[in-house]
Amino acid sequence: MSTVELPRLQRGLFIGGAWREESSTGTTFDVVAPASEEHLATLPAASAEDVDAAVRAAHAAFEGAWGRLSGADRGKLMYKLAELMERDLEVFVTLEALDVGRPAFEPRAVDIPNAIDVVRHFAGWADKIEGRLIDALPNFGRPRHSYTLREPLGVVAAITAWNVPTMLACWKLAPALAAGNTVVLKPAEDAPLTALHLAALVEEAGFPAGTLNVVTGLGPVAGAALVAHPGVDKVSFTGSLEVGREIGVQCAREFKRCTLELGGKSPQIVLADADVAAVVPGIAGGFLANQGEVCAAGTRIFVARSLYDDVVEGVGEIARSVVLGDPFDAATQMGALINARQRDKVMSYISAGVEEGARLVAGGERPDRPGYFVAPTVFADGTNDLRIAREEIFGPVGLLVPFDDVAEAVRAANDTRYGLAAYLWTSDVSAAHTLARQVKAGTVWVNGAGAPDARLPWGGLKQSGVGRELGYAGIEANTEEKVVTVVL
Ligand code: NAP
Repeated sequence: MSTVELPRLQRGLFIGGAWREESSTGTTFDVVAPASEEHLATLPAASAEDVDAAVRAAHAAFEGAWGRLSGADRGKLMYKLAELMERDLEVFVTLEALDVGRPAFEPRAVDIPNAIDVVRHFAGWADKIEGRLIDALPNFGRPRHSYTLREPLGVVAAITAWNVPTMLACWKLAPALAAGNTVVLKPAEDAPLTALHLAALVEEAGFPAGTLNVVTGLGPVAGAALVAHPGVDKVSFTGSLEVGREIGVQCAREFKRCTLELGGKSPQIVLADADVAAVVPGIAGGFLANQGEVCAAGTRIFVARSLYDDVVEGVGEIARSVVLGDPFDAATQMGALINARQRDKVMSYISAGVEEGARLVAGGERPDRPGYFVAPTVFADGTNDLRIAREEIFGPVGLLVPFDDVAEAVRAANDTRYGLAAYLWTSDVSAAHTLARQVKAGTVWVNGAGAPDARLPWGGLKQSGVGRELGYAGIEANTEEKVVTVVL
């Protein structure tokens, strides 16, 4: 266990700058540590009435104190928030390792620095949001002076998944706040603790009350009430394709703005010129990082036949050597899945892989210990038609498939309803750029991968989502362009 002093885990809803210990109905839900199955906290499950209070508070802040701030002053508060997050880096690391069951080194090295960087990046944008002067045609002979204003949308509802909760919360709230919106955040019920700590730091930084509100609770109640609320101007959602589709349909009905960051079944393509020893750790990391609970996980691995046996052996060896265990043990390389349901779902996909005839190279079992652990699992010799190649598993399971012809590999890579990311492994620069254009994905990684950068647009093609987050695209997604014309 970490030695860092933790804040009170038992916090309430954060609405209008105040903490509410109970929901309006008194309903609660339990937060459990996936790696130990220990109870961490019992939190209020926000009702539709609580969500309404949060949206009203956000609206009041938008029309009031937050809305009146200059971009520079919004930026100053966001820089302050980033500073406080840096001060509390180990608190975030500990909460995230406890709550998600992942090894502490991952949020320490990747997620929390990324979340802080995202807040700083967008703090910098807050006073740099500009309109355009456009040379419009004269109006009945009178010249026109036309320009655009890029304006905030109003209240943004941010609904997040549990796999990388701090990053996801910051990817949503930072661009929304920088652009001048206010936010109601509904974190996933399985990993809500860091969102509450973010709220505490927003309070400490001195943001006007109501700028950020956090409603913990259940998707079909709190999440659905947020999406349906007429006071919400935009929904920014990260989660499954199924829930994303429902939200997309509902937003379309109301013409409500919405961005959807959904699932993936990303391909990795290993060309014949790749240096096997150099690329195998990256290929394995591409589907094993964060227990495979990564939207962009590279779970379908197409390998040139000349390298195939060596890559299968290398990836299998890495999977077998992974140390599973306590998130706070320095030796631990992989943690537990988020809950028993997710563990059982992953195990059922492993059974499907075996039943459909793929060769099990490594893993496939549940370690005999408390916590929702599944051994890193590698399948080989399957095809792109298997269920384990078509459906998102969201666990540490990868499938290797040989190919003889690069065009065939690209066709198979693109033969999926998803299009979030793709990974290319090659030392041929020309092939890398050519294939990068051919694969259908929002992000293409060549010879390595990591967390999305604050400066780069992030999002999916096809059923992996709609819209982009991060970079200037994040500002565009949180503003509307208004035209002003003066007839001179
Ligand atoms: P999920 O079940 O869709 O839940 C996502 C969020 O939506 C949670 O906060 C959930 O609340 C809430 N929710 C559930 N039903 C709702 C409803 N009817 N109305 C409004 N909100 C509702 O997804 P998940 O299992 O948490 O996350 C895993 C998925 O997220 C995977 O598919 C993964 O690929 C995707 N993901 C995508 C990205 C990306 O950037 N593209 C990043 C991370 C994860 P509860 O927690 O109470 O259910």
